[in-house]
Amino acid sequence: MRIPALDLKKQIAPIRRELDAAIKEVIDNTGFILGHEVERFEQDAAKYSGAKYAVGVSNGTDAIILSLLALGIEPGDGVICPAFTYYATAGAVASIGARPVFADIDGDTYNISLESAEKVLAKNKFKIKAIIPVHLYGQCADMDKVLKLARKYKLKVIEDAAQAFGAGYKGRKAGTLGDCGAVSFYPGKNLGAFGDAGLILTNNKDTAERLRILRNQGNDNKYYHLVLGRNNRLDAIQAAVLDIKLQYLDKWNKKRQEAARYYNRNFSGLGIKTPFVPGYTTHIYHQYTLRAPVSNKGFVEYLQEQGIDSRIFYPVPLHLQKCFKYLGYKTGDFPEAEKAAKQVFSLPIYPEITQEEKEYIVNHVRIRMRSY
Ligand SMILES: *Cc1c(COP(=O)(O)O)cnc(C)c1O
Repeated sequence: MRIPALDLKKQIAPIRRELDAAIKEVIDNTGFILGHEVERFEQDAAKYSGAKYAVGVSNGTDAIILSLLALGIEPGDGVICPAFTYYATAGAVASIGARPVFADIDGDTYNISLESAEKVLAKNKFKIKAIIPVHLYGQCADMDKVLKLARKYKLKVIEDAAQAFGAGYKGRKAGTLGDCGAVSFYPGKNLGAFGDAGLILTNNKDTAERLRILRNQGNDNKYYHLVLGRNNRLDAIQAAVLDIKLQYLDKWNKKRQEAARYYNRNFSGLGIKTPFVPGYTTHIYHQYTLRAPVSNKGFVEYLQEQGIDSRIFYPVPLHLQKCFKYLGYKTGDFPEAEKAAKQVFSLPIYPEITQEEKEYIVNHVRIRMRSY
């Protein structure tokens, strides 16, 4: 059997006619950038998430960059990021000349440790202006603690909700709790476009206005440029596709949760660490991530040999990535992030995964666990 990490063909097939019609409409109208489709999707996404404003942008990385710019983060400013996340969280910070300042993660949730962040803040020599909690794998960081720390140290809060659009925090939605929430619609995310796309959520009117100007070349009115903006606009075709897929997101996320429950049940008592989900968050399982007893490499190799497309997110923590060498971190600085990078691996999970596929995966995880 071959089981992919994600099967988009199965997701698209049942709604193909709706999607084709929406794309055709954009082609017929020839309004390819921003415009009606983007505005409609922004309204629907704001309504879905409960945020006052939603601003469609080119991708999730640009959503973080524009949020930093709109919130006044400048070259040389420090921005706290977890050491264990996708590159783009810290890459966005570095790309505007600001400085990623790493904190360790919590070993149970894989999200930022606020104890570690506070230690970093207390002894840090850079002027730290913001914090980017990442809602990794689809469950929220402990936002009450993030917001409390942010108040104490006067930090702006940008949620990296790239993997968590639709996840909950105490009855609210990921991305709506900080100053800005950055969302990615990379095709492999729970809500995926047909190319690159992203969104920024905010409850602040001025921030929303600044974001709209920044994403469109600093334009207020055509050819009158107020600030140094960028070309980070959202395409109408992507917005049209996303607006249709958004209607199915909760249903898809529920199916992911069902698959995760099946895995949890069948892995209990095996001695393998299943996802820990604190009571404050609902997990939408962008990834279903286990911790191998010793090393993830051998585990993933075994599963791959059996045709199971298991992956390691992420094999190298950011403070040890070559590109961030100039920041001066070394091995041992963030032990939980380093341990997670050596142990975590994710199993195929997507709404359409079949019972037969889940059983096959469970069996091979069981077989592999017997070798310890
Ligand atoms: C996907 C992702 C991003 C970047 O999103 P793009 O749309 O690919 O630019 C940022 N942060 C995290 C945690 C992600 O998973």
